[in-house]
Amino acid sequence: MKNWLIQLRAGRLIVATVVLSVVLAEIIIITLSLWLHDEIRGEYMATGFVTATIVSFIIVIIIQSIVRALQRTDEQLLERTLYLDSILQSTGDTLIIALDTAFRVKYLNTMAEQVLDISVHKAQGRRISELVDGVRREHFEQAMRAVKPGRGHSFQFSYDFDEATHYFEATLTEILHRGQLAGFLLVAHDATDRKLLEETLRNLSYQDGLTGIANRRRFDEKLELEWRRAARENQPITLIMIDIDFFKNYNDLYGHPAGDECLKKIAHVLSVTIARPGDIAARYGGEEFAAILPNTSLLGAEKLAEQIRSRVEDLELPHANSAVSPWVTVSVGLATRVPVNPDDYTTLLEGADRALYKAKQQGRNRLVVDHH
Ligand code: GH3
Ligand code: MG
Ligand code: MG
Repeated sequence: MKNWLIQLRAGRLIVATVVLSVVLAEIIIITLSLWLHDEIRGEYMATGFVTATIVSFIIVIIIQSIVRALQRTDEQLLERTLYLDSILQSTGDTLIIALDTAFRVKYLNTMAEQVLDISVHKAQGRRISELVDGVRREHFEQAMRAVKPGRGHSFQFSYDFDEATHYFEATLTEILHRGQLAGFLLVAHDATDRKLLEETLRNLSYQDGLTGIANRRRFDEKLELEWRRAARENQPITLIMIDIDFFKNYNDLYGHPAGDECLKKIAHVLSVTIARPGDIAARYGGEEFAAILPNTSLLGAEKLAEQIRSRVEDLELPHANSAVSPWVTVSVGLATRVPVNPDDYTTLLEGADRALYKAKQQGRNRLVVDHH
């Protein structure tokens, strides 16, 4: 359609040029002939008309070839634009934004129009940071300041649409033309699926497969983190260690699968008792559990630890092979410290371990607090 229009326009231009040049040439010949004698005027006009017409045609042919060349360039440009446009629009969930040297929008692809909720016409000429708000604007502004010649700047931002939060990973790079800065290109792809997968994998790597509560890896990381925080804030931190009494006997009598079920039930007691945000209950190893309680006074921690012990007993899980109770019971050791050395939490671990050992020695199914 557009090609046809161009051709029509070119055709009309040629006809108009022919007519105009012939008419102009003839007017000049007639005007000049007014100064000539009558006897040579006729001859002059005859050769003049022929020459002017030939010259006009030569000029027209030259113009025609120029128009054709322009037409071909125009068609090639149109074809390239079409291809580029279809490539830019078929990038799925990738945003492509072209900016001028002052970070004003020159082009947006469809995905960018959807995410920024603005049409390309309305966006054109506006600074990109004006099209985003809040913390996103800060990220964009920072990227605009940080982008360096020859080195793109990567950053992240999120957007809520389609009833979900989408995470984008973006790169802002320079567009160079003959070595000169001609603008910037912002390419951002939707990395939500990968981020969610990473999160799921991270959660799984922090979870105990049998009981579903935090595993030893998570426990170690959290203890280090909370110990440092407690050191910074000069606050107490409590560690509770829990060990099932006569659990080897339990397995021997009821079998390993029943032992696993028992571990799950005790883990559940722990997770509902240690429910304050910031606290964490973990499976420390085999049939041992642990809980970290940051910013908790000794009295509060003691109450919680005793609650764990009594709630396990109250489950009334039969244990005919226990020397201390007809039910499954646990021994609990507790230690509270205000950290002195932020890098070394062994004093807390050793304290809770020592208290647990004492609880076992003193007859099991009890709580012992470490008084260091
Ligand atoms: P104590 O009262 O002194 O703690 O005696 P105990 O028998 O509980 O102590 P011991 O450390 O000798 O035994 C721990 C037992 O816990 C050994 C093992 O059979 C059992 N156990 C450890 N991990 C698992 C597990 O994942 N599943 C099951 N079913 N049993 C486990
Ligand atoms: Mg044990
Ligand atoms: Mg045990």
